[in-house]
Amino acid sequence: MDYAALAELLFPHIDKTPDYYETLYPARQLSPGAKVTRLGPSPTGFIHLGNLYVAFVNERLAHQSGGVFFLRIEDTDEKREVEGAVEVIISSLEYFDIRFDEGVTVNGEIGEYGPYYQRQRGSIYQCFAKELVKKGLAYPCFCSEEDLQAIRDKQEKAGENPGYYGAFAKCRNLDPDEIERNIQDGKPFVLRFRSNGDPSRSFQIVDAIRGPLTMPENFQDVVLLKQNGIPTYHFAHVVDDHLMRTTHVVRGEEWLSSLPIHVALFKALDWPLPIYCHTTVLMKMENGNKRKLSKRKDPELSLNYYRSQGYHPKAVREYLLTIINSNYEEWRLANPDSPMEEFELTIEKMSSSGTLFDLDKLNDVSKEVLVRIPDEELYDFMLSWAKAYRPELAPLFTEKKDLLLRILAIDRHGEKPRKDLVYCEQIFDYFSYFFDDYFQVEDDYPEEVDREDIKPILESYINSYNHGDDRNQWFEKIRVLAAELDYAAKPKDFKKNPELYKGHVGHVSTVIRIALMGRASSPDLWEIQQIMGEEQTLNRINKAIAAL
Ligand code: GLU
Repeated sequence: MDYAALAELLFPHIDKTPDYYETLYPARQLSPGAKVTRLGPSPTGFIHLGNLYVAFVNERLAHQSGGVFFLRIEDTDEKREVEGAVEVIISSLEYFDIRFDEGVTVNGEIGEYGPYYQRQRGSIYQCFAKELVKKGLAYPCFCSEEDLQAIRDKQEKAGENPGYYGAFAKCRNLDPDEIERNIQDGKPFVLRFRSNGDPSRSFQIVDAIRGPLTMPENFQDVVLLKQNGIPTYHFAHVVDDHLMRTTHVVRGEEWLSSLPIHVALFKALDWPLPIYCHTTVLMKMENGNKRKLSKRKDPELSLNYYRSQGYHPKAVREYLLTIINSNYEEWRLANPDSPMEEFELTIEKMSSSGTLFDLDKLNDVSKEVLVRIPDEELYDFMLSWAKAYRPELAPLFTEKKDLLLRILAIDRHGEKPRKDLVYCEQIFDYFSYFFDDYFQVEDDYPEEVDREDIKPILESYINSYNHGDDRNQWFEKIRVLAAELDYAAKPKDFKKNPELYKGHVGHVSTVIRIALMGRASSPDLWEIQQIMGEEQTLNRINKAIAAL
């Protein structure tokens, strides 16, 4: 068959040659070792932790090597597209400090290798499709859904591999006249790859995360262009990553099984392969078993979860680094004060079997990260979180800025800072008793204290209360008060001779704590009273007495 004539017949409107695009998108002028990476999300409206994980690896690899990180929107599937999804992708990633150098932005596209929306690249794909037809490596397929079903049925009966290939590929060797007739009749067609792979042969490839892999050759005549001329993922990936001069393709494990197709396409087009890095899926522990994080079951898969709960982006980044690179925690211990960006992420140290994502661990990391964030910065962060996710709190935060700053400073400075702030929702809950509208009695008075003693405790507390007392004077008064009511003034006396006392000073101060804060445990009581002020302190005690 005259393939050149066929190519002309199929793509009469394509007048550019591959050389044209090779010149239009020249090799990038970067220093040796600089990596060019990309993120290729589909605008489906759902952006998840897996996307962030992959984005972060790509971003680090590019930026720590002086390379380029770009955003390409893979919008070839119109049916799955959701309006506003691109903005969601960009702003969600930006929240976590993932910034692109090139590609799609909220203000249009930047960079010399665009367009960066795949749907706008139709004529580029078709140019290379035409080239493959010319080389005899692609052909039009006019099969209908019914034809394809008939092939599947036949294969199933014969126990053969499913798919469009070899002798089952009806359109692989169509008569040129028939093709011409079909085209003239306006019959729709997809363009298929003419594979010369053999399922019994395998090839070797090195995945930078997984090491050397042996994979079966692709033998399927996969679809390159759909009936509307829009490429499949396979073809778009190969053409785009070649022309955009991507050096490292970091993508999810779900693409590993189609790697043989991609390798075959790069070969057919005579292009060098990028370095492939297939990440592992994120798993979670459930009842002692690892399972994949699921969109349906696990709200923490969605990035919106972290934003709405008010996780600080630095905490999430830091945690991600611990699961991306096994040596990160060691580095952090040795460099407690260095910005995490100084850590050099290495592909070789990435896990090649299911990565465990653990919310508790994230919370622990977050505690360490938040302790290093200055009060004022944390306040600003909480305010912006409130504005976005708890608008009813924003005026309170603005009005009570000084109070909040004092609250945030409680026990966070000094030799042994308290590490109990995790994320905004939790922080607000943790300190909500400072605000009358949010104060609630959550715990019961301690069992060790007789019910009849509660009122006398609170009354003598209020009678002897002097807001100007320092911590020692204040506590001395509680000791006296406890002793008067037959509670040990020192816990150790109680431990030695429990039969001599009703309880000890700690139980008595828990009564006060519950009256003041509604909770049995809290940071230092004296300090909290100092922050609350005399009036609110006395009001709370009086209210607790009245409620008895
Ligand atoms: N559009 C693909 C996805 O959203 C991109 C995969 C890739 O990075 O190549 O999964």
